[in-house]
Amino acid sequence: ATPTAVMVATGVGANHGVLVKGGDALERAQNVKYVIFDKTGTLTQGKATVTSTKIFSGIDLGDFLTLVASAEASSEHPLAKAILDYAFHFHFFGKLPSSKDDIKKRKQQIFSQWLLEVADFSALPGKGVQCLINGKKILVGNRTLITENGINIPEEAESFLVDLELNAKTGVLVAYDCELIGLISMTDPLKREAVVVVEGLKKMGIHPVMVTGDNWRTAQAVAEEVGIEDVRAEVMPAGKADVIRSLQKDGSVVAMVGDGINDSPALAAADVGMAIGAGTDIAIEAADYVLVRNNLEDVITAIDLSRKTFSRIR
Ligand code: ADP
Ligand code: MG
Repeated sequence: ATPTAVMVATGVGANHGVLVKGGDALERAQNVKYVIFDKTGTLTQGKATVTSTKIFSGIDLGDFLTLVASAEASSEHPLAKAILDYAFHFHFFGKLPSSKDDIKKRKQQIFSQWLLEVADFSALPGKGVQCLINGKKILVGNRTLITENGINIPEEAESFLVDLELNAKTGVLVAYDCELIGLISMTDPLKREAVVVVEGLKKMGIHPVMVTGDNWRTAQAVAEEVGIEDVRAEVMPAGKADVIRSLQKDGSVVAMVGDGINDSPALAAADVGMAIGAGTDIAIEAADYVLVRNNLEDVITAIDLSRKTFSRIR
């Protein structure tokens, strides 16, 4: 392809909301053999909602939600945002103004009045968050986070967890002062186009793979819904890049599609990194492509565009 053809293709992509950061990435996309999809926020909408809560100690539901929301208030994770919304509705249902901006402002005002003071906050990608509230440690996240901290997950909690995971839901565990105090069941629906895109890639001779930090059961259930057979679950952010490198070993060209901070090492390691436009800045920086419309169909658009632009010189 001539420099002009590359320029034209870049322009065509941009018109479709597919921004490519250079001719090399544009060229590599034609030969993609694997497309690795992150689960949360990439295949799914990244707009989780709480479906239920389960409390294991004597704590009152309102106090439980206040604790958890306080711990999650500084996190940018979609699950964290959904938990805050849920807690907000619980405490202030019926008081919401109509516009979204108003809701946001009002939320911040109200939140600042009743959220508890948090110290030593840290976000642990692939695991959850931890901080101190009233001088005691609170952990909000997955099994790994809880067990790593030496906290026991009682039988009752474990069976509740397994149950919701088998239904494609994500269980968020809450431990306070070294004790598991409750669990939040969350659901994050697939993007509307996800099934069709996965099917389309298969027809193009491309292998779709799902990689996620979420647990095996939830991952399998979601993969089944979307039509992906190759699943890698309970993968930490650095592990996502390892998955890419292992698929590249035989010379295969690997694309990665992701949205989160936890995807950026993998986006950088991939031959073709594609960031969801609504994703975090760090993911967008690490990627070769930005899919501005947040629509997975643009993964196919990008590969098609490359194939059409470079097919004559193959
Ligand atoms: P994915 O790879 O699918 O995008 P992540 O790596 O972002 O998922 O997260 C993996 C898991 O870690 C989540 O499914 C959740 O259990 C837990 N987790 C991460 N961040 C948070 C948070 N802020 N609150 C609760 N749980 C979290
Ligand atoms: Mg994600």
